[in-house]
Amino acid sequence: MYQFNHASELLQMCENHKLDISEVLILAEMEESGRSRDAIRGLMEKQYQIMKESIRKGLSPDIKSVGGLIGGNAHKLSVYGQEKGFCGKTVLKAVSYALAVTEINAAMGKIVAAPTAGASGIVPGVIVALQEDQKYSDVKAVEALFVAAAIGRIIAINATLSGAEGGCQAECGSASAMAAAAAVNMAGGSPEMCMDAAAVALKGLLGLVCDPVAGLVEVPCSKRNASSAVNALICADMALAGIKSFIPFDEVVDAMYRVGRKMSPDLRETAQGGCAITPTALQYAKRILE
Ligand code: SF4
Repeated sequence: MYQFNHASELLQMCENHKLDISEVLILAEMEESGRSRDAIRGLMEKQYQIMKESIRKGLSPDIKSVGGLIGGNAHKLSVYGQEKGFCGKTVLKAVSYALAVTEINAAMGKIVAAPTAGASGIVPGVIVALQEDQKYSDVKAVEALFVAAAIGRIIAINATLSGAEGGCQAECGSASAMAAAAAVNMAGGSPEMCMDAAAVALKGLLGLVCDPVAGLVEVPCSKRNASSAVNALICADMALAGIKSFIPFDEVVDAMYRVGRKMSPDLRETAQGGCAITPTALQYAKRILE
């Protein structure tokens, strides 16, 4: 009864039953899994605690990734953002948190794949920074995670969340759409506004290729999480200001999938194109292979 494959169906359910996106997702999950509301909420609360823990650990100056390409950037930006910056405190906090999670991921620490390990910094970066700076409750933050999950579910059903299949637009693009919708929900925006934010966020990253240097999820992945978190916040603000997406979310998802299918395999996680074949990247790859 609460199952949905498309944003249009989800919005219709919200409208018909006067429910918000998180509630429809919980009801759908209860139907599908047979689990109780408390069990489902408990699982999501646990995921949120893991996200917070990965941020806390990732802000340490001593993090070093397995490939040695990243580590300590989250710490640098969090120190810098306390006193300086063009972007404002909350944006820089979200970015430093996004970097923190990706640095922990690259150091083989524990993260929540939201929706993938490579794009794991965006959703927690945005939600945790907003919770801290806007003083939202834990209940509100977990509710926002359900909204993010609803967006991820629609993309997973109708397109792909995999960089190997659809390029980085499917990973960082999807995570940015998830975070944008979550942010709108936290601020009290309507389900339609959540979808507008998600649509604009995914559109902004359409065509983004997957080109990890030496095949490691470090460069450009970590900093791409940073810029995708900012993209999410901008799109959330636009939606909350009443700006609509000209193209509905479902159509953007279809477009993203079509773009992914047309992408050369060189640009889909094989490290054969983009940043991965720049002279600097090739030099590094040769060094670690030796
Ligand atoms: S570049 Fe590829 S591996 Fe890195 S985050 Fe994007 S999709 Fe994932």
